[in-house]
Amino acid sequence: MVAENLEQVRKNIKESCRKVNRDPAEVTLISVSKTKPVSMLQEAYDAGSRDFGENKVQEIMDKYPQLPSDIRWHMIGHLQRNKVKYIVDKVALIHSVDSLRLAETIEQEAAKHQVTVSVLIEVNVAQEESKFGLKTEEVLSLVESVAAFPHIHIEGLMTIAPYVEDPEENRAIFRQLKKLSVDIAAKNINNVSMSVLSMGMTGDYQVAVQEGATMVRVGTGIFGERNYAR
Ligand SMILES: *Cc1c(COP(=O)(O)O)cnc(C)c1O
Repeated sequence: MVAENLEQVRKNIKESCRKVNRDPAEVTLISVSKTKPVSMLQEAYDAGSRDFGENKVQEIMDKYPQLPSDIRWHMIGHLQRNKVKYIVDKVALIHSVDSLRLAETIEQEAAKHQVTVSVLIEVNVAQEESKFGLKTEEVLSLVESVAAFPHIHIEGLMTIAPYVEDPEENRAIFRQLKKLSVDIAAKNINNVSMSVLSMGMTGDYQVAVQEGATMVRVGTGIFGERNYAR
């Protein structure tokens, strides 16, 4: 089932790209595998997936040694500072940097491990109370501060859009994140790239791709519903 689902999601991404004249190669599909067993990740791997998204440090640490080493792990959940040290040398990209304090910790741990960590700044575009992420107007100043850190490279922005019945309701959110990334890119800040836009989940990735997403994070659409009550 995982392989068929992946194929369907890839087809949908291609179709969305075709509608707006984008090259599908610009869009990375991240298989969001949180709560799912290693056997299902292996299925997705065998069907060609190399990018996996997890939202818990412990889960990345459990799964990391059990799966092939060419997997790119994406930390997409809220990251506590005291856990940074466990994943700083394991993840390809941290999508959820939302404070200077967290960035400072990542910088310290990256320096210790002698690695450079790629990160995205998480933006709470919709300003939902329940969500992490900076307000749109706070992003530039954090980007400017983090740009000075030698062991962190900002690659772009990430947002988690609200849960909606009709994905069209999130189009304006995706547009705002795209606009913010274009505005920041225009400032040509040293050590800062705005090439990645991580936005869109199972319910709305097709709209996100139409609005410029370069990474979509799809869980349910690939692995099925999650059961948190186990
Ligand atoms: C769980 C999660 C996803 C995937 O959600 P689905 O609706 O299952 O596709 C994407 N992004 C983040 C940050 C998540 O926590």
